[in-house]
Amino acid sequence: MDTKALIEKIAVSHEATEEELIAVMESTESDDFLFESADRIRREIYGTDVYIRGLIEFTNYCKNNCLYCGIRRDNRNVERYRLTEEEIYQCCDEGYSLGFRTFVMQGGEDSHYTDEMLCRMVSNIKKKYPDCAVTLSLGERSEESYRRLYESGADRYLLRHETATAEHYAKLHPEEMSFENRMKCLETLKKIGFQTGAGFMVGSPYQTRENLAADLLFIKKLKPEMVGIGPFIPHKDTPFKDCTQGTLRDTLVMVALTRLLHPHALIPSTTALGTIHPQGRELGLKAGANVVMPNLSPTRFRKLYALYDNKICTGDESAQCRKCLEGRVSSAGYKIVTDRGDFRA
Ligand code: SAH
Repeated sequence: MDTKALIEKIAVSHEATEEELIAVMESTESDDFLFESADRIRREIYGTDVYIRGLIEFTNYCKNNCLYCGIRRDNRNVERYRLTEEEIYQCCDEGYSLGFRTFVMQGGEDSHYTDEMLCRMVSNIKKKYPDCAVTLSLGERSEESYRRLYESGADRYLLRHETATAEHYAKLHPEEMSFENRMKCLETLKKIGFQTGAGFMVGSPYQTRENLAADLLFIKKLKPEMVGIGPFIPHKDTPFKDCTQGTLRDTLVMVALTRLLHPHALIPSTTALGTIHPQGRELGLKAGANVVMPNLSPTRFRKLYALYDNKICTGDESAQCRKCLEGRVSSAGYKIVTDRGDFRA
């Protein structure tokens, strides 16, 4: 079968084998057809709407030591920061007036924020803004903790699986971290009732085509409401500092294939994609993504939340970011909407 026919088959059936996925990844001549197919499916379900999520990167303290990440525990060169509760609420206030109806609280795994504090913040935000969704991205926690957060009003939880292959996971993480636990956390989040986000990096060290196919098949099986996909970008203070970054093309192909296999997914066009190419986020939208997640954190902290080098938008005020995105999204042929942007089943 030629690649176009294969893409067409995947677009219609939303099914593919490992071999078929690898065949699509390996042949570049049908890329445009692939992106157009993904865009067509996205438009059938979500029209031209692009959902915006206000990202509050509230702490860069982390107890983990992921080999790829710039805020890993062993990095002594980062100045660590934490936002106060009050500062977090201010981010939400500003975000709300800019049209954000989802707030994403993301951070390193920082035990300074106890369940009690986190639950209080979630419930205060939900009380003040009942028309908004709260998304958490705080890494691996106990089932008990996830439950309490859910009961306090959190709607969604982002926890990228990073790679669906245990052997590959072990090459990206220190021994003390466990692939099984990450997978178990994702199952637990779904079971509790969170709209759950999984996802992976493209071009991470040691990654093979087979690993990427496994990521896609894992997504197909788990059916997370959200899927975050971005290129791996080296950070100068990590063991992977000399590794090559993921490519634009491979990342776009993964976004598009995710749309084909799991048509209803909410897929962000990531900041990492915008970092490796000036039009990365626009191209991501055209390849099937339908979400953007600009930063709402106070500008003075943004440079400090450096998971990878050269991260974009670290100097802009939130209002500027919002304006800039508006232009980018409309130049790509889509429209930012003021909406919670929930998963459409
Ligand atoms: N501590 C939370 C949030 C992690 S940061 C958690 O464990 O889920 C969000 C995502 O950034 C990670 O899941 C990872 O996929 C991505 N990331 C980290 N370092 C990166 C790098 N060097 N290049 C690209 N993406 C990276």
